[in-house]
Amino acid sequence: MVATSATATKCQLLIGGKWVNSDATEHQEVYNPSTGEVIALTPMGGRKDLDRAVEAAHKAFLDWKEVPVVERARVMFKFKALLEANYEEIARCVTREHGKTLPEARASVQRGIEVVEFACGIPSLMMGESMENIARNVDCETIRHPLGVCAGIAPFNFPAMVPLWMYPIAITCGNSFVLKPSEKVPLSSMMIGDLLSQAGLPDGVFNIVHGGKDCVDAIIEHPMIKAISFVGSTTIAKYIYQNGTAHGKRVQAAGGAKNHIIIMPDADIEQTVQALQASAFGCAGERCMAGSLAIPVGEAAEELIPQLVASSGKMSVGPTDGDSNPDMGPLVSREHLNKVKSLIEKGAKEGAAIALDGREIAAAKADKGFFLGPTIFDHAKPEMTIVKEEIFGPVLSVVRARTLEDAIEVGKKCPYGNGAVIYTNSGRSAREFKRHFNAGMIGVNVGVPAPMAWFPFTGWNNSFFGDLHIQGSEGIQFYTQQKMTMTRWFEPKNASFQDPIWKPKN
Ligand code: NAD
Repeated sequence: MVATSATATKCQLLIGGKWVNSDATEHQEVYNPSTGEVIALTPMGGRKDLDRAVEAAHKAFLDWKEVPVVERARVMFKFKALLEANYEEIARCVTREHGKTLPEARASVQRGIEVVEFACGIPSLMMGESMENIARNVDCETIRHPLGVCAGIAPFNFPAMVPLWMYPIAITCGNSFVLKPSEKVPLSSMMIGDLLSQAGLPDGVFNIVHGGKDCVDAIIEHPMIKAISFVGSTTIAKYIYQNGTAHGKRVQAAGGAKNHIIIMPDADIEQTVQALQASAFGCAGERCMAGSLAIPVGEAAEELIPQLVASSGKMSVGPTDGDSNPDMGPLVSREHLNKVKSLIEKGAKEGAAIALDGREIAAAKADKGFFLGPTIFDHAKPEMTIVKEEIFGPVLSVVRARTLEDAIEVGKKCPYGNGAVIYTNSGRSAREFKRHFNAGMIGVNVGVPAPMAWFPFTGWNNSFFGDLHIQGSEGIQFYTQQKMTMTRWFEPKNASFQDPIWKPKN
């Protein structure tokens, strides 16, 4: 059931420093997932909108690339201060359009600010290398140049943070940027776009377009766009990587995930229960680093599972943008809620045991927002759909393993490879796991090993397509191209030539 609101307005595009209307004739509804109310309409724009944005971005790039790096950094310092001043307002916007609890929304905005802090260091981050006398009288240096117009395509699950992974680094490297936020959650990026202008970023360096597939295809095909950063599901990540590179662009495309949490019998069970619950059900499970598959080893399951079910069953689920402060908010849309519920049904049909059924909460609150309670499947098997596929909701599957080796084998069969975690007190088990688990981001007694801004987000396998990951030094490399210069100066042959600064020995 959807309540339409008289206040729902059409989102505008940010092009050349001005908010302008889209040429789109179709719009998609943006919901407040806590109430089901429509709070905005996203124009489903395409080539026409994109062409306008790229033209503005290219024009701005020609001047912006000439701005000294320290001045570009100063814009980021001001931007950081503005983000901090508007922190609460942005977090509330994230909560309103996405459904995260306020503490979760605040934490995500903080993570985004940390990328801006990282980008403030651009003068040293962008430095090249040099060496003299690589051959007799020959010196060599590398310098990092920006690429031109770069584009970012974002998912729905972190409306402010994920776009902030991309454009602060791209822009301070001297590029201009066109962002396409998720059509489901466009509002936080629009609010932040205003702050970039207030920070003194020249018009056209940062632009926003809206839409879905048509807009993405226009980005892929536009000859002036040099690089694409994508974060979203694996199917679309692969599509964008394959088509973007076929159109001669650099692409970094982060995809979906299934993150394994292995619990050894020597783990601190109380701490593990808390961490597992937070990892699986934080942000209603709508996180690419959510621990969605628990693998207790040996007798670890006996104590862990009853405690986890009891504790998770006590979590409060409810609206996040009011006065109450629930442990978990709604899912982003009714469509997504129904998808997650159908996967739960599939899990039950395929024979996994439902130890905690979140659909009861969904039924109790069905007429309002898009709610689903924490759900736990015990005795799941590696061949089941709920173990193989990303669910992207508050659903934790438990596959019991006999040994650590068996648990690592489950990981080897997984097509994804974002994160994986071990809970143990044994250094040896931790080392074996760290060395052999088939994923790019590893946690040892850390439930969500998502790296901070100055480290890259190193997904493997079907969780990432490309060569240079998002964030950290790889982010700087992705948004710049190196120029190598080799220099030799000859000694003057003309005897009458007098160099005023340096005189040859004879
Ligand atoms: P999605 O793939 O449906 O959408 C992501 C973006 O792609 C959106 O901007 C959307 O407009 C666009 N898009 C959708 N369908 C398209 C199509 N057919 N052709 C071209 N573009 C299209 O993802 P989502 O549902 O918004 O986000 C959830 C997914 O993102 C999950 O799979 C999650 O794991 C993943 N994610 C990954 C990371 C990571 O770092 N690996 C981080 C956050 C989210």
